[in-house]
Order: sequence, then structure tokens, then C-alpha cells
Amino acid sequence: MIKAVVGANWGDEGKGKITDMLAQEADIIVRFQGGANAGHTIVNNYGKFALHTLPSGVFYDHTTSVIGNGVALNIPVFFKEYNEIVDRGVPAPKILISDRAQIVMPYHILLDQYEEERLGGKSFGSTKSGIAPFYSDKYAKIGFQVSELFDEESLREKVERVCETKNVLFEHLYHKPLLKPEDIMAELMEYKKMVEPYVCDVALYLWNALKEGKEILLEGQLGSLKDPDHGIYPMVTSSSTLAAYGAIGAGVPPYEIKKIITVCKAYSSAVGAGAFVSEIFGEEADELRRRGGDGGEYGATTGRPRRMGWFDCVASKYGCRMQGTTDVAFTVLDVLGYLEEIPVCVGYEIDGEVTTDFPTTVMLEKAKPVLKVLPGWNSDIRGIRNYEDLPENCRKYVEFVEEQIGFPITMISNGPGRNDIIYRNK
Ligand code: GDP
Repeated sequence: MIKAVVGANWGDEGKGKITDMLAQEADIIVRFQGGANAGHTIVNNYGKFALHTLPSGVFYDHTTSVIGNGVALNIPVFFKEYNEIVDRGVPAPKILISDRAQIVMPYHILLDQYEEERLGGKSFGSTKSGIAPFYSDKYAKIGFQVSELFDEESLREKVERVCETKNVLFEHLYHKPLLKPEDIMAELMEYKKMVEPYVCDVALYLWNALKEGKEILLEGQLGSLKDPDHGIYPMVTSSSTLAAYGAIGAGVPPYEIKKIITVCKAYSSAVGAGAFVSEIFGEEADELRRRGGDGGEYGATTGRPRRMGWFDCVASKYGCRMQGTTDVAFTVLDVLGYLEEIPVCVGYEIDGEVTTDFPTTVMLEKAKPVLKVLPGWNSDIRGIRNYEDLPENCRKYVEFVEEQIGFPITMISNGPGRNDIIYRNK
């Protein structure tokens, strides 16, 4: 059976923690999209880790961690991270890399940096990890699959051809030093040495694992609202963040994904540019940012302060619907314990009309939040393990959100650790 863990919002919902927790019962954890542009923070018995490319299952002996074909694989970053966790005492994880995964090339990162520089104030707020140029090349059919590393002759020919096109941009648009095919070849040969022991036909491996009754976890990056089709285009990421894409990005039958666990945060945070209807500012935002997550809401990749907002029922209802949610994991609820009252965004007012349906980007830019203020519980809920033991106002908050979004909240996370979880039978 396959379960997917995905995000309902703008990312940073706490998917890493939920995946790490669910990985206890899984055999295989697969990353199916995205790259080193976002990060998960995981706290466990080995310490606190920020993972960008490694699947969240790497901390267990019993799991195999897989890089699916849908991932933007930055090979040096991947192995740097791998070595870092091993150096910190984590047993060497079992890793498999899809022979169909494509490689983030050194020039993708340069192109990302140069383009952000060129756009100046109109930039997308990219993390400059090369993700947009990577996926552009993938779909322009000039990307490099891991499998291509193993045919040196045709690789060299393709590198030369691609450098010719890229150098037009480097020279005339960005006015930067030109790419040298021989440098890129040398780098790719290094990559080949690094990945060789781990490369396999991942789709076949997963097919066989399913037949053997193995439990597979698909691990999403970012959230619904960053999906290139269904999110806040163009302020989105470049690969689909939806569970449905898990079937493609891992290479598994869509009907095998039986559970879609959508991670939804008890308040809002976002990084990068784009409309953010329930956003708050000033001291109110600073306080939530300081208290948020585990040690503050700052980007796991960039360290940038995240934009903060109240819980957005409109965006979260839509985010859960687009994922095909079977279960909601409601996270960081403990963070709200300092508030006397908690505003929640229950509708968007657009051109004088209130809607609870998430609109397209043009309309979203005009949306103003309709807020409802709920009473806070004003106490620390960390350490509580039974739903009934939560303060009444806290339960009311959960139940209010559940009703607004229309999907069952079956897990409540009240701390960053693996065991900070309250299960609810629905
Ligand atoms: P991801 O990208 O969705 O995995 O999310 P991040 O790891 O970027 O952000 C989640 C942050 O919140 C991390 O620092 C987690 O350790 C922390 N976290 C996750 N769940 C909880 C929770 O229930 N309570 C608190 N206080 N922190 C949490």
C-alpha cells in the first residue's frame, strides 16, 4: 500500500516531522518531486536535521530511501547531506536513485542566480537552487537523466550541443563567462562515480515491493499552493506538489495511493513573493514568527524570515481538496498557546463579494481576508497525548477548522518531536 504525505499550504507545514513519524511503519520512503530548494526540519534521537534532498526516512535502519524520477537531483548536495548525517552518527541509510531522475547541472544554478539578478526587484524570490532552469530544460528535452551518465560518448556530444545554446544566454543576456563543455564533462564524470552504487530502475523496484506487500511512503515537498497548475502561478515551484504527481514522480500506479495525508499548519507562513491573503505584519507577525515552528519561522534552506499569517480556511480547504486528502495532519498547534484570541480567515472578499472558494491569481491579488476571532486556550499543550485532554477552546479551534475545510483532522501535532502527536479516530 502507498501513502502520500503532502502539504496543504505554501510549504513548511511540518511534512518532514509527519513523514519521519509515519516512516516508523513504512518500508520505503520516496521523494517524487522538487529539489534542494526547500527543506524539512526533523528532530529525533540523533538531533535536529535540516534535510533538503534526502528523504525523511534516512534515520531508520529498516527503511529504504528512494529518489524518484520526478526529483531535481543535485548530486553533490545530495552526497554532502548524506555524509553529514553519517558524520553525526546516523547509520548509513539504504539509498536508491532512479535511473530516470534528472540531474541539476551546474549551469542551472548559475542561470537561476543570473536571472534573479536580471529581474532585480521583480524576481520570484527563488532560492537559486536551479530548480526552474532544471525543469525548463527537462520539458524542453535538453535535460540529463542519470542513466545518460553511463554512455560517455553520447553524453559528451549532448553536453557540447547544450553548451552552445546556453552560451548564447550567458554571452548576450547575462554577460557572464561562457560554459566550457570539458569542465561540465569532468563534473559529470564525478557525479557518475558518486551515484553509480545507488542507481536502479526505481519504478520496477517499487512495483515488486508492492507485490510483496511493502508499505511505501511518498514524500512531497512544498504545498498545494505552490503547485504550478493549481497554485498561485507564477509564484509557484516548477514541479507538481500534488499527491497525484506522486504516481508519476515515483513511477507507481495511481490507484495504489490509498491514503493521502495532507499536512496543514495551524497558522500560515509563506516564503517568497505572491499574494498571501491572511498575512499579518509588525509586532503581531514578529511574535508569531519568533514563537513559530521549532525555534522560529525562518527558511530551512535560506534562513530568510517567513511571512506570517492567521490560519486561512479558504486556502486550506482548497489545498486539501486538490491533494485528494483522506487525512489531515494539523501541525504546530502548540505554537498558538500564547494567544488570548485567535483570528482565522474564513472567507475572501473580492470586489465586494465574499467567497470561500480559492480563486485564480488575478482575483487573489484583490482578495481581502474575512476574519473570525476564536477564543484562545492560553496554555501550553505540549506533552498532551489524548484529544480529550486538550483544553476545550483548543478542541473548538480544531473542530472549527475541520468543519471549514471539510476534511477529517486525524492527527494533531503539538511539538516538533516524533512523539508529539495526538491521534483522533474519525
Ligand atoms: P516541512 O518542509 O513541511 O517539513 O516543514 P519545515 O520542516 O520547514 O517546518 C516545520 C518546522 O516546524 C520545523 O522546524 C519542525 O521541527 C517544526 N514542527 C513540526 N511540527 C511541529 C509542531 O507540531 N509543533 C512545533 N512547535 N513545531 C513543529
